[in-house]
Amino acid sequence: MTTPTLMGPDGIKIPPPDPKTVQLTNPQRRNYEAFIFGNATMCERVAEEGSAKGQTIVICGAGPSLAPHAAKWTAKGDQVWGCNSAAIWLYEQGYPITHGFTIDQTPDMLEEWYTRPPLEYLLASTVHPHLTQFLLAAERRITFFHNYVGVQKPPVELCECGHGQMVMASGSVEPSHGADNTEPCNQLGCDCTRYVPQYLDYEIWMYGTLYPETVRVGTGLNSVTRAIDLALFMGAERVILLGADCAMYATKPMPKGAVVGNKQHRQWLEECVIMHADGSNPLRSNATATTFEGEIDGRMWYTKPDLSITAVTLELWRRKLGRKRLTIIGDTLPNALQGKSEEFLTKMPYMADSEGKPLPLMPE
Ligand SMILES: [Zn+2]
Ligand SMILES: [Zn+2]
Repeated sequence: MTTPTLMGPDGIKIPPPDPKTVQLTNPQRRNYEAFIFGNATMCERVAEEGSAKGQTIVICGAGPSLAPHAAKWTAKGDQVWGCNSAAIWLYEQGYPITHGFTIDQTPDMLEEWYTRPPLEYLLASTVHPHLTQFLLAAERRITFFHNYVGVQKPPVELCECGHGQMVMASGSVEPSHGADNTEPCNQLGCDCTRYVPQYLDYEIWMYGTLYPETVRVGTGLNSVTRAIDLALFMGAERVILLGADCAMYATKPMPKGAVVGNKQHRQWLEECVIMHADGSNPLRSNATATTFEGEIDGRMWYTKPDLSITAVTLELWRRKLGRKRLTIIGDTLPNALQGKSEEFLTKMPYMADSEGKPLPLMPE
């Protein structure tokens, strides 16, 4: 049986068991709503538009290329953000890191940041509230932003004036325009006299109701692209990206009998593949074992679906912002894609909706 591929003859082949699509899911999905509520009760600060105006922000992913470039480039930042485990690694190596950044909803982050170094922390409002508590217990300064996750709930009905069914902490609902929606608005300072219904995405409604106004990030699939969203919202003049390898490094090629998910493949990932600056392998933190490989300009690249999508996103973003505004450092997959044709990039794996239509990678 031949296996269909997602890329052309010079491109990346996706092996079985499911060659066409890879479902990206998160086991915390059912808890998102509770997490957003929980973090709101502890929120003292949200990211402010323009608060880093004119600054250079160095964003560090945890890829292997972080290590050789950290010394030179972290010194150039007004702020240096470490995503997930990169925060700990940079701090322990003595680099001038200022912020830990995460959008990760899993309790694994408590382990990852167990040493909670004295940094400021940039947290998505969907992180596990235990992580927030854990950092606050050590008096760490936390700034929240939103990372849209798609809470599956029916939309909320509100009056056009923005005041509708106020949900109280107790869970009871208090209508703003009287019990049958026929009275003038009862909210202080609102002169609305008539209830005109509008419908709001439930998650967006939660953000607006529970938190002061801030940004909702959503570009790409990984923490580095979301961190760039945040840095640009905060007004950064220049973003320098380190450790965004979007790839894994194999000390030996994948053995002949290895197929994604089988014993030889797992063994190869554990023993011969490096994915993080601290030297750990791609299976750390119960990560998916789905990998694929492809040749670009005579070199073999090993990657994962979400990482490959992130690499394309970063390259498109750099084309839009210019290399000076978004500088990507290191021997990384995004840099291997630099200057590739649009046609080449569109042959890379992409995000699709439920009907298989490609979703845009970039914000408008
Ligand atoms: Zn109204
Ligand atoms: Zn009103």
